Amino acid sequence: MGHGAFVAAAVLGCAVAAAAGQTAPTPFDPLPGAQRERYRMDFRKNFYADDASWRADVERAKALAGEVEARRGHLLESAASLLDVLDRLRDSEDLLLKLYAYGEFTSAVDTRNRRYLEAYEVLRAEFDAKTSFFKVELRGLDAARLEAFLKAAPRLAGYRFTLDDTLRWAPHTLSEKEESLLASLGPSLEGWPPALFQLDFDRTAFPQVAASGKTLDVHRDYETLLRDPDRSVRERAFRAYYKSLREISDVAGFALLKGMQARNAEAALRGFPTYYHQALFDAYLSRPELDNLYGQIEAQLPLYREYQELRAARLQRDLGVPRAEIWDQEMPPAGAPQPRFTGDEACRLGIAALSPLGPEYARELNRLLDPANGRLDIAGGPNRGQGAFCEGNFAYFMDNYQGYLNDVATLVHESGHAIHHQLVLNHRGSLYYSYGPAYMTESFATFNEWLLRDHLLRTAKDAALKRAVRNESLNEMMLLWEIARRAKFEMVAYDRVGAGQITDARGFDQACEEVGRSYDPAFDRYLELEVHWMRKHHYWTVPGYYFNYVVAHMLALKYYQLYQADPAGFSKRYTAMMAQGFDRPAAALLKDFLKIDLRDPRLLEGTFAMMRAELARAPK
Ligand SMILES: [Zn+2]
Repeated sequence: MGHGAFVAAAVLGCAVAAAAGQTAPTPFDPLPGAQRERYRMDFRKNFYADDASWRADVERAKALAGEVEARRGHLLESAASLLDVLDRLRDSEDLLLKLYAYGEFTSAVDTRNRRYLEAYEVLRAEFDAKTSFFKVELRGLDAARLEAFLKAAPRLAGYRFTLDDTLRWAPHTLSEKEESLLASLGPSLEGWPPALFQLDFDRTAFPQVAASGKTLDVHRDYETLLRDPDRSVRERAFRAYYKSLREISDVAGFALLKGMQARNAEAALRGFPTYYHQALFDAYLSRPELDNLYGQIEAQLPLYREYQELRAARLQRDLGVPRAEIWDQEMPPAGAPQPRFTGDEACRLGIAALSPLGPEYARELNRLLDPANGRLDIAGGPNRGQGAFCEGNFAYFMDNYQGYLNDVATLVHESGHAIHHQLVLNHRGSLYYSYGPAYMTESFATFNEWLLRDHLLRTAKDAALKRAVRNESLNEMMLLWEIARRAKFEMVAYDRVGAGQITDARGFDQACEEVGRSYDPAFDRYLELEVHWMRKHHYWTVPGYYFNYVVAHMLALKYYQLYQADPAGFSKRYTAMMAQGFDRPAAALLKDFLKIDLRDPRLLEGTFAMMRAELARAPK
């Protein structure tokens, strides 16, 4: 999920560039001296010494696929047969993940080298084809047989969650013929709406706006334009962008509608009211649980409103305007110095900030972030991939490290993904158990950003810095309502498409406006925001996924609240939960380890109290 916009002020012990709008910034080298060379990935050390050892793993994965395939038609013949297949699938996943990570990282550091990634993709497709019978045959398992198998082969209990998951899906599974028909039609049914959405943008000539001596594109450069010091530029960019979005919303809306209808139709065959219900079921969440969260979030809208007013007042003062408009919202706080950290400083800061998570976490994090181990690749250059990511427990890639606090936040976030995997590997012997709902894995990564801010708040000696981090903390907390609004739009849209109430792009406008108005008065003031739904590609590219962001954001805040009340106790239970892997539904993990009950109507009480306190502390 988006990594916190973490713009703060000077940190003691790190270089500070001149404040925005003053003289030319002090030149800052984020990777000075030998650092540029040291922050390169060592593929030989961390992946494969040579092509022969890479090839050996490819062959091993192929052999495992063959061994699994040999059980086709005999999967449930005995407990031993089932256990044997599960063991091999588990081992295959470890192998495949390493091959995938190798492909991803080698192509990220040099986009011209797609060889290993493409080889992986071919291998994966072959593997899936050979082993797809597993899911189909496993459907023959019922509760009674499972119990008998568990008695015959007690080690099967280690796979209990996988097996229960199958039983759980049984009532929603179609006949083998229907399933294979749907699977074969899948790419044609699912592939075109996101492609058409993209095409809609690609073929549009968006207006250009002259800004600060350059000509910028309102679509591609929107974020830059909204930070332009010239207010009229910002307004023109906003108005022109939303006007264009309105013009192309008919086609994007058509793609969204047809995609939703197709998914709803398939979900109906499986016995779900809408595809959204199915997506929740798949994530071990239910509509009542989600409604419970939305209910609590919406009950606290006055808190959000208070924050918006505080922010508007500050913008008005900073910008010297009578009323802060929507195109002023992205303007950085006036005169806030931008702290910068070298690569070495960032790693040390990350390690210090996450040290409350205990000795094992710290040891693994040190291993990841010590550049001597060659698991980091953050120095920019030609032909590099975009963004920042960790894959499995292996390594960390960032396209071009610049040393901003936001980059440090990204580092601790992504490290959170890697160390989660590592802890599961340490405790369960395989990465197989680290796959769970995105809202859980993202909550682990996002919580690290809270620990980073918390660490800075506790250790920074500079009052201006503290103020700035406080401000950022507050902004991050209050994102909850924005994320909830975007997620709720999608839920409402599926309901209305299902009920035949949305039949074109105007229907999406209406849903967007209604949900928007209930969350944010800006939707009353700016008619343009009706087409705001055009700005989240997720609705097309990862349908029914956005709620993960709400739950992850909410959970990370909840962890932070619990952590503040009992740092040592919470950290212990929390890392134990992470290390356990997904051996039971996420809701059960949360309940068993952290006493977090997603059905509790008062779940967020303490969290909102923490947020209210943060708002009260915010610099006026
Ligand atoms: Zn993430």
